[in-house]
Amino acid sequence: SLDTAYELIGFREVRPLYRFRKKFSHKGTYGHALIVGGSHGKMGAVILSSEACLRSGSGLVTAFVPGCGYNPLQSALPEVMVMTGKDESELTEIRMPFTPSAVGIGMGMGTSKASIAAFRAFLESNTSPLVVDADGLNAISKDRSLLKLMPPGTVLTPHPGELERLIGPWKDDFEKLEMARKFVGEHHCLLVIKGAHTMVVSGTKGYVNSTGNPGMATAGSGDVLTGVITGLLSQGYLPEEAALMGVYIHGRAGDLCLDSQSMESSIASDITAHIGAAFREFY
Ligand code: AMP
Ligand code: MG
Repeated sequence: SLDTAYELIGFREVRPLYRFRKKFSHKGTYGHALIVGGSHGKMGAVILSSEACLRSGSGLVTAFVPGCGYNPLQSALPEVMVMTGKDESELTEIRMPFTPSAVGIGMGMGTSKASIAAFRAFLESNTSPLVVDADGLNAISKDRSLLKLMPPGTVLTPHPGELERLIGPWKDDFEKLEMARKFVGEHHCLLVIKGAHTMVVSGTKGYVNSTGNPGMATAGSGDVLTGVITGLLSQGYLPEEAALMGVYIHGRAGDLCLDSQSMESSIASDITAHIGAAFREFY
């Protein structure tokens, strides 16, 4: 049976999930995250996710991108390590020379046959906690046999268009959520349904986020969210904790942008720049 009531994701609910850093911790304590994606002209998505992942507390971050991503990544983010596949412009293989503590995959990846094949091979060998976004979700919609390769507790972060490709069309919000819950039950995953009121569906439970504003309706905003959730998973937060805290922090960072920006002028990297202030409210 399903719970019909939706719980709020607010400060009071998320603060108890927050774990203060321990004095004698080191970067290994907070994990080594892997961010995978990018294609020619869409490398910014990986830059945005990788920085948000670091800013959310992952100890180390490696980005895996096509060859043409090497210079932009290294120039934009000196703290991030970069690995490249053999092809210059799209991912045709995804190597993992270390076992990541969490993986965020799909941003700007494209959905060519070769990229979907690389995504499949990655899923076949991966056992790390996983966030799938953007073209990772579109790949799953094209080839549904990828679903059974995801580890239990995988966090899927669709916007409405990606959700419709994933679960099919709905006639109203009630039906949308029932379909989302059925999908989550069948595939043992979590859904973060992005929008003005982002919803998290986990097991039989549904949650609705209280933070965020229309200034976040801007390019790359979702890539930042994927980085935040991956960063939280990397530190050992459980998938449900990472999804709830991730959407709260992301929205709160977007709200804090309005102290120095307007809704019109806010861009995704401004959200990342305010992740710190959002975490500080937990101290
Ligand atoms: P994406 O479409 O993948 O870039 O994701 C957009 C991100 O911005 C999601 O996290 C949404 O929840 C957020 N967002 C978009 N529009 C709004 C809005 N009107 N109010 C609050 N958050 C929004
Ligand atoms: Mg997106």
